[in-house]
Amino acid sequence: MAGEPQSDCLFCKIVDGEVPATIVRETETTVAFRDINPQAPTHVLVIPRVHYPDAASLAAAEPGIIADILRESREVAELEKVEHTGYRVVFNTGSGAGQTVFHAHLHVLGGRGLNWPPG
Ligand code: C5P
Repeated sequence: MAGEPQSDCLFCKIVDGEVPATIVRETETTVAFRDINPQAPTHVLVIPRVHYPDAASLAAAEPGIIADILRESREVAELEKVEHTGYRVVFNTGSGAGQTVFHAHLHVLGGRGLNWPPG
């Protein structure tokens, strides 16, 4: 069921501590950890503790948690000292947009110049 932990979901396992991750911050509703394959000096993922396959389904069901994730991205930027140099937040939504893990997650990228449009 939407919102419930999924036994085959990697990010649910990170939330539960079954799969190790380098945790940056945790709140009651979110977990932030370093991306295993960083694309910038700062590359942190902020995920909801609850399972939704993507940002769109999370926003529809629990918009308050999307707000929590965005608030956390700001905390991560401050912690990583990229809030003044600039950083990017990205929800890849759907495989056509490059989503590979189907538990909603926000990428927080910074610490280098970032081009636009993205590839
Ligand atoms: O947006 P997308 O679904 O492609 O992002 C998934 C991200 O999860 C990737 O950047 C990948 O490096 C990261 N990942 C991770 N730890 C894992 C598996 C994937 O940080 N164990």
